[in-house]
Amino acid sequence: MSWPSNSGADAARQRDWRRKYAKEDAALGIETTEDFAPFRQRNDIFTRAFWDDRIRTDETDAFFASYRMQATYRKGDGFRQRDFALRNASWLVSDIISNRSAADGRREGFQAAIAADTPVAETQVDVDDPARMAAEIKRIGGFFGADLVGITDFDDRWLYESRVDTRDYSEIDNHLPGTITSVIVMAHEMDRELVATYPSALAGAATGREYSHEAAIVMQLAAYIRNLGYQAVPSMNDTALVIPYAIKAGLGEYARNQLVITPEFGPRVRFSKIFTDLPLAHDRGGKIGVGAFCDICTRCAEACPPKALPFGERAVSDSADISAIGGVRKWTSDAAACFGYWAKLRSDCAICMRVCPFNRDFGRVRNRLWLRLALSPLRRLALWLDGRGKRARRLRPRDWWSQSDA
Ligand code: SF4
Ligand code: SF4
Repeated sequence: MSWPSNSGADAARQRDWRRKYAKEDAALGIETTEDFAPFRQRNDIFTRAFWDDRIRTDETDAFFASYRMQATYRKGDGFRQRDFALRNASWLVSDIISNRSAADGRREGFQAAIAADTPVAETQVDVDDPARMAAEIKRIGGFFGADLVGITDFDDRWLYESRVDTRDYSEIDNHLPGTITSVIVMAHEMDRELVATYPSALAGAATGREYSHEAAIVMQLAAYIRNLGYQAVPSMNDTALVIPYAIKAGLGEYARNQLVITPEFGPRVRFSKIFTDLPLAHDRGGKIGVGAFCDICTRCAEACPPKALPFGERAVSDSADISAIGGVRKWTSDAAACFGYWAKLRSDCAICMRVCPFNRDFGRVRNRLWLRLALSPLRRLALWLDGRGKRARRLRPRDWWSQSDA
């Protein structure tokens, strides 16, 4: 078997992208090289766990099986039956959506966009003010439950070059309607106390709950837009890389721990997106100081059990690592090592989110003051101050549960 690389962008496409995005990329801190090529979903580590013998093991199979109720439980605090029960219950709505077209090879929200449940209305509402319509969409996104909403242009570099048919993991076309012009990006805050219990199956409930929430939110907001007479394709992890769109939409900045750090919730968010042709004004992102902070901090890399995060400077990934997008200078994890650790745990890990100094409750004045310091030239002082407290200490899962005994 030959291993598919992420190559495929011809010189004309590269030139076109450079002409269109060089200025914006420089402002955002996105750096692509001439080796850049859009990502092929088949190379995503979770997809490889089904077709690539170098990734698939008995442990990865057991990891996926544990998300069903017949899971065997591990010994230890945070890995007992009720921990897995809460995690799996949190995933339920997302699972219902992602399983509904399994017979057609489409795992909606993960390996295929979420199917439209509402036809596009034959009559279009007039949109003569895209800025006003953008404000309306942000308000409606908030009404359905999104914690942050940003809007950017449809930059096709981040669209998957191909997606997979989950019946046999063959590559197929990744289609979107040809009229798409904008991407609405939504952030969904993960529960702070549950995140504090990573690593544990209990903590996975923070992830599952947001996937279930975001599935409902993208479907509802897309249905609203379709009822206005415009195309809207609801999407979670499928169809395109969400991180560049979140950065372009001004929601935050990319960090060493592979996450986008937002000023509102730090790294403790998940993102969803909607592709649309509704006329919308676009937000403008920019560097806010997160990358400069990561330049002097390695807390996430130090805390990572399999040492899957880089300690050094941003770099273009080795082309042999097919799970890393080619031709982008950034901090890149060893996705196989990271997922191998998840498989051992039988649950997702986000220790690198928990220990990050930006993982704070920014509803508190002192944390907002710390944020101002961290994003300023006094960032070394902010890093030193972070090391003085108990902020990153793990909450024992049994202590989380004991709150319901009180
Ligand atoms: S999720 Fe866990 S294993 Fe993966 S990079 Fe973060 S700390 Fe490391
Ligand atoms: S722990 Fe430090 S280096 Fe890692 S993402 Fe957070 S701020 Fe950046």
